[in-house]
Amino acid sequence: MRSSKRILAIGAGLLLAALPLAACGGDSDTGGEPGSGGKVVIGIKYDQPGLGLKEGDDYTGFDVEVAKYVAKDLGYTDVEFKESPSAQRETLLQSDQVKMIFATYSITDDRAQKVSFAGPYLIAGQDLLVKADNTDITGPDSLNGKKLCSVTGSTSAKKIKDNYASGVQLQEFDTYSKCVEALNAGQIDAVTTDNVILAGFAAQPQYQGKLKVVGKPFSEERYGVGIKKGDTDLCGKINAALEKMEADGAWQKAFDDTLGASGLKVDPAINPPKPDACT
Ligand code: GLU
Repeated sequence: MRSSKRILAIGAGLLLAALPLAACGGDSDTGGEPGSGGKVVIGIKYDQPGLGLKEGDDYTGFDVEVAKYVAKDLGYTDVEFKESPSAQRETLLQSDQVKMIFATYSITDDRAQKVSFAGPYLIAGQDLLVKADNTDITGPDSLNGKKLCSVTGSTSAKKIKDNYASGVQLQEFDTYSKCVEALNAGQIDAVTTDNVILAGFAAQPQYQGKLKVVGKPFSEERYGVGIKKGDTDLCGKINAALEKMEADGAWQKAFDDTLGASGLKVDPAINPPKPDACT
């Protein structure tokens, strides 16, 4: 009796707590409409140097710079970041925990069933990271019998499962930093994900001279801004901000200050890309 009362009381409390959110259209917790100012909650990676990295209260990387530029252009005055691991991105958007995601998030047909994308704002390609002295892994076709690490819910892991599953032992973690630690410790033979992510790790002081990117990309990864499915108004505003960022030189500066500093070059024929039409 006593315990069921307590459950009832907790239930009522939750209901009351949810009411103010529902009254504001359900998204007052992640930020209001563009132009309304105030706070916006943005999903990024926390462990990918050069793209999205959290160190104490400091957030750095290309995704972070693009996110800040877009948020400001949309009139938000305060950005709150939330960690968005690969496998959780669709859920974070669908459950209104973030307004936008800038997290090395490839635009794919599968994902577009659940969320919408603005952009792309960068085009990368899947590649391999190996020990600096490795000579036998030269591309995805030389992975037979090797232990390969990637991240759950990523296009990188999917591509291996779809195309190379028979010969490769795939180990999946929830973040790339765990894969890179395992590679450095000799527990696996290679890490696979986008070249820009791998280059960011290889340039970290603790890995310099120890790890190398193979350098033969074998996919096209178009990084989009994840938003709630069907929000074409927000998509259009983000695309306008991205085009402005490219035109005023801020895109290039953000690239040079982050990924460019790792010595990485992206194909200038396709970067910066023109955003797709919002549908
Ligand atoms: N861009 C790829 C993806 O969205 C790999 C990087 C990542 O997992 O964030 O799945």
